[in-house]
Amino acid sequence: MTTALITHADCLDHVTPDGHPEQVARLEHVLHALAGLDVQRVAAPLALDADVLRVHPQSHLDRLKAAQPVAGHAQLDADTWLSPGSVNAAFRAAGAVIKAVDMVLGSEVQNAFCAIRPPGHHAEKQTPMGFCLFGNAALAAKYALDHHGLSRVAVVDFDVHHGNGTQDLLWDEERALLITSQQMPLWPGTGDRNERGKHGQIVNVPLPPESTGAEMWTAYEAKVFPKLREFAPELVIISAGFDAHQDDPLAQLNWSTEDFRRLTQELCKIAEETAQGRVVSTLEGGYDLQALAASTKAHVEALMEAGA
Ligand SMILES: [Zn+2]
Repeated sequence: MTTALITHADCLDHVTPDGHPEQVARLEHVLHALAGLDVQRVAAPLALDADVLRVHPQSHLDRLKAAQPVAGHAQLDADTWLSPGSVNAAFRAAGAVIKAVDMVLGSEVQNAFCAIRPPGHHAEKQTPMGFCLFGNAALAAKYALDHHGLSRVAVVDFDVHHGNGTQDLLWDEERALLITSQQMPLWPGTGDRNERGKHGQIVNVPLPPESTGAEMWTAYEAKVFPKLREFAPELVIISAGFDAHQDDPLAQLNWSTEDFRRLTQELCKIAEETAQGRVVSTLEGGYDLQALAASTKAHVEALMEAGA
């Protein structure tokens, strides 16, 4: 068994205005960092409308397609932009996580990393938001549950920002455990401990600014790892944002590259115990290009080690 790296050049055609942190160069740096790794490289297919409709209404698709410019940029909110290639890139990103679920549940590979953009975890049912158009992680969870017939899927979101979109999309989904850690206070402002989902299946783990990797580990040992083991997922999905890194310009947590490796190793270990080692990871944030590249490489190396 091995690790799949799923990506597509179309994800480079989602172009944000100059100076925007969620830039094409992010994915270029990630792919360069992963270039030498012995992974199974897979081209992301386009998701079908029906796949995206598992988590978003038709009006959301219609709105994005209508807003997409033929040249230049169109602005959806203060942070979220479309270029002529953006909607296609979003369908590749969603297609990547679907392909990843198919490959991992089909035992073609042990685990998979989706190197995609736009990211997904801020997109709510009807609202593109925070650089995100489609909720890729939630979509992968719903697809694993409804299409593959799993009973329990866990999503772990360690991006420094709250996974408000994933929370919105999975709010009433009893079969999905969502655990999301985030710096608080920080945009988008949600992610308090008392946000627990319709069935108590959402766990928010706020972390104070300047938290180190050691403090993260203490919080994860107390609130995340035991909850995951208790839930015993059949598949673990990771919303892998690397903006909790100490060098990241958009937030104030102080994790190191090696903290991302260690955290990934532990999530893979729990997946080994409950989920036959099945892990699907998808790229979210991370805005210092060097820190993003190094942390993503450490993350994928940990996946490879678990899949060896
Ligand atoms: Zn983020």
